[in-house]
Amino acid sequence: MTRIRGVFCNRTLNFSAIKAIGYDMDYTLVHYNSGKWEETAYHHLKHNLKQFGWPLDGLKFDPDRVCRGLIIDTELGNLVKTNRFRLVKNAMHGTRPMDFSEQKKTYSRIMVDLSDSRWVFLNTLFSLSEACMFAQLVDLHDDQKLQNVAGYADLYKKVRVAIDTAHMEGRLKEEIINDKKKFVVLDEEAPLALLDQKHAGKKLLLITNSEWSYTNEIMSYAYDPFMRKGRTWRDFFDLIIVEARKPDFFTSGAPFFQIVSEDGLLRPHPGNFDGSKLYLGGSAGRLEKELSLSQDEILYVGDHMFGDVHVTKNMLRWRTALVLRELEGEIAAAEAFSKTQKELTALMSEKESLEKQLWSLKVRIQRSKAGYADSRGPVVDRDELGALKQKLMELDTRISPLAAQSGEVQNKQWGPLMRAGNDKSHFAFQIERYADIYTSRVSNFLFTTPFAYLRSPRGVLPHD
Ligand code: IMP
Ligand code: MG
Repeated sequence: MTRIRGVFCNRTLNFSAIKAIGYDMDYTLVHYNSGKWEETAYHHLKHNLKQFGWPLDGLKFDPDRVCRGLIIDTELGNLVKTNRFRLVKNAMHGTRPMDFSEQKKTYSRIMVDLSDSRWVFLNTLFSLSEACMFAQLVDLHDDQKLQNVAGYADLYKKVRVAIDTAHMEGRLKEEIINDKKKFVVLDEEAPLALLDQKHAGKKLLLITNSEWSYTNEIMSYAYDPFMRKGRTWRDFFDLIIVEARKPDFFTSGAPFFQIVSEDGLLRPHPGNFDGSKLYLGGSAGRLEKELSLSQDEILYVGDHMFGDVHVTKNMLRWRTALVLRELEGEIAAAEAFSKTQKELTALMSEKESLEKQLWSLKVRIQRSKAGYADSRGPVVDRDELGALKQKLMELDTRISPLAAQSGEVQNKQWGPLMRAGNDKSHFAFQIERYADIYTSRVSNFLFTTPFAYLRSPRGVLPHD
C-alpha cells in the first residue's frame, strides 16, 4: 500500500471493537468530480442570484481560487487561511491576494473564532462554489456594481440562501442524475471494502442528507456494476437513512419515518428497525437506543468537517473517520517537493547556526562596550560580525525562493491544505481534534481490514 492510500490515525482505534459503521454518502461512499459538480452548482447559484439584477454574466467558476479549510470573513469580504492557533497566515480580499503588510495590518490582533457568525469555515467540497462566488461578488461590490447590498455580511447571506436553494430545488440534482458519468468518480474497490466489513459482523448504516430518489440513483450507479449478479448496493446496509438533516441528526431527538415505497411514500416509524431498512430523518440518540449500541461501538465515516465529524465526536463521542480525497494530491505534491524541501531544511539549519554565532558575538560586543560583565574570552573581531551578516544575507537570497515554493505546494495561492507555513493549518488541527482516523477514500479500508488495531503515532513535542 502506498502512503497516498493510507489510513492515518490520530487516536487509537480497534476495529474489532466496532459493531456498527455509519457512512455518509456524498463525497464519502461516492466521490464526485468536484470541479464539474461545483461548476454546475455555481451555474445554478448564479441563476438564483440574478433576481437581484446584478451584472453576473461575465462570472465563471474558478476552482483554483478556493479550497476546503479556508474561512470566509463575512465582515471584511475576505477569505483567510489560519494556523492551528487561529491566526491568519494568508488572506485574499475579494479575488485579490493581500500582501503581507496588508494582511498583518488587518489581522495581527485577531484570533479567528469559528463560533462567531462572522466566520464561515469551508467544511466540504460542496462549499467551493459559494466561496468563489462570494469572492467575485466582493470585487463587484467594491466597484459599486451591486445594488441593494448592505455590506459584505449581507452579500454573504444572499449567496448562502441562493446556494441553499440550488441544493434543495430539483434542477441541480436532476442535472447530476442525468449525466452521472460526468459527475461521479467510480471506485470499483469500494464495494469489497464494505463487504469485508459486513462479513466481519459489522452493522453497516448509510446516513445521508440526500433525498431518497437521489441516493438510490447515485448509489446504484456507483456500486451496482461492481456487485455479484442479483445483488445491489442496498444489500450492504442494515439501515439506510436519507434526509438525515445532519448535523441536527446527531443532537436532536427527531423521530424516524419509514419509507414504504420506491417513490418515497412515508409512514411513521413504529419503534424498532425490524423488517424494513429504509428510513428518513431520525436522530442518532434513537438509533443508538434501538440498535442497543454504545457510543464507542459506532464508527461514523464522513467528509463534512463539522456535520459528520466535529459534532459526532463532540456531542456523541462516536468514533470518527474523515474522508479527505484531497489528501492524495497533498501527499503526492509533498513527495514531489521533498528534494527541494530537504534542501530548504538544510539551508534553514545552516541559517540557525549562523544566527547563533551572530547573537553570541553581539552579546560579547555589548558586554565589552558596557563593561558590565567579565569580558574574558577571545577578543571580539568586528570584521567577523560584518562577515557573518553578509553570509546570512547570502543565505536568505537562497532560502527565499525555496520558502515561497514550499508555500505554493498543492495550491499556488493557499499552499497545502494541512499546513500553514511551518505549522499545522487550522484544518489539520480540526482533523486532529475531531477525526480519530482520516483517509482519502473508503476503499482504503481494504488495506487495513476490519480487524485492524490502528495506533496513533507518538506525538512530536518541540523539546523532542
Ligand atoms: P451527505 O454528504 O451524503 O450527507 O449529503 C450531502 C447532501 O447535502 C447533498 O445532497 C447535497 O446536495 C446537500 N448539500 C450540500 N450543501 C448544501 C447546502 O448548502 N444546502 C443544502 N443542501 C446542501
Ligand atoms: Mg458528505
